[in-house]
Amino acid sequence: MTIRGRFPYTVWPGHNRFVCRGRCITGPDQWGVVATAALVLVPSGLYVGIPIPYLLENRVRYGIAGLVVFLMLFAATLACLVLTALDDPGILPRQQQTDITVTPNMRLRLPRRKAFEVDGMTEMLKYCETCQLYRPPRCSHCSTCNNCVERFDHHCPWVSNCVGRRNYRTFYLFVVSCCLLCLFVFAWTILYFVFISQMKVDKGISSNTTAGFANALSSGPTAASLIIVIIAFFGAAFTGALSVFHTMLIWTNKTTAESFKYTFGGEPSPYQPKGARNWLRVVCSRKPPSKVKVGATLDGKTRDMIQVDWRGLAADAEAADYAYDDGRMPLPTPEEARKLYRRPSAGYIVSADTLPRVSSNLSLTPQPLPSIEESLDGGAE
Ligand SMILES: [Zn+2]
Ligand SMILES: [Zn+2]
Repeated sequence: MTIRGRFPYTVWPGHNRFVCRGRCITGPDQWGVVATAALVLVPSGLYVGIPIPYLLENRVRYGIAGLVVFLMLFAATLACLVLTALDDPGILPRQQQTDITVTPNMRLRLPRRKAFEVDGMTEMLKYCETCQLYRPPRCSHCSTCNNCVERFDHHCPWVSNCVGRRNYRTFYLFVVSCCLLCLFVFAWTILYFVFISQMKVDKGISSNTTAGFANALSSGPTAASLIIVIIAFFGAAFTGALSVFHTMLIWTNKTTAESFKYTFGGEPSPYQPKGARNWLRVVCSRKPPSKVKVGATLDGKTRDMIQVDWRGLAADAEAADYAYDDGRMPLPTPEEARKLYRRPSAGYIVSADTLPRVSSNLSLTPQPLPSIEESLDGGAE
């Protein structure tokens, strides 16, 4: 299949948007992340503009602590938000059979589902008609982005992107750091109210702190800090609930999609590890490389005409069946796998870690695919 175009991302078939000549990828609904950023930036600006100058002037220690801790949490929250929104969540590039021509009245009829076992439990590999591939375990097609995403968690409108295998860590850290930021800003603004009410009493303007507080609210800036308290309160409640929910998901090794779809029917997730080990894996493990190779990596030769040779993951799954179903062939090392499954002359590369390698005792149920010729349904429809 030959595609003419300067950069692969200009012919990208999904609904994603590309930023910085394809170096960054995001979902189609970019206003969500702008709104989220505004919800972080506006109260933060008010916090730095109103309580902090007062505390630095009148309660220096509280002022410095309030500024330093705030800046650390603010930087972490914003960095994690940007990284989640602009990173490839783990998209599996669409596959196309290149050695056959499929005319509109011919249809590929591949088996819709393939069974395989994970630690004694049978799971189904479903075929994605849009992406033309067998989805690896835990992969789902995002209807918003119109792409299959590995270890799909959910499409998050707040970050304008899918949350999947590659950006789950930054999403989780964003939720946790945002919750801590809200709690801290809430507590320090309340402290500011206490100090300013006390100051009114000390100066004899008010008879008690309640009256002092009411008096303080009559000034514009102090009244404006009520906005900080309200946004921080609801922000802490929302992100706090999300932090607890995602920590529980990580502890039990489930995704949001699996939890809501009741995938394991009340049974524990068959995936390993669980508990603290999985939490450490999510927070500390190396991010797998992106399979979307777009952007400024093209050399001069291929710049104007990109020969895209997309071979199916369906074929990979078939090869994997024959190679591994008798259990005699050991699974390839990551280096071997990368060589084995690298697609020739392709802008998009699919590597073997998309194959169902869930645990060491994984067995693929033998269920060979029909050949391409057999699977062509001439004249149907
Ligand atoms: Zn798909
Ligand atoms: Zn999505």
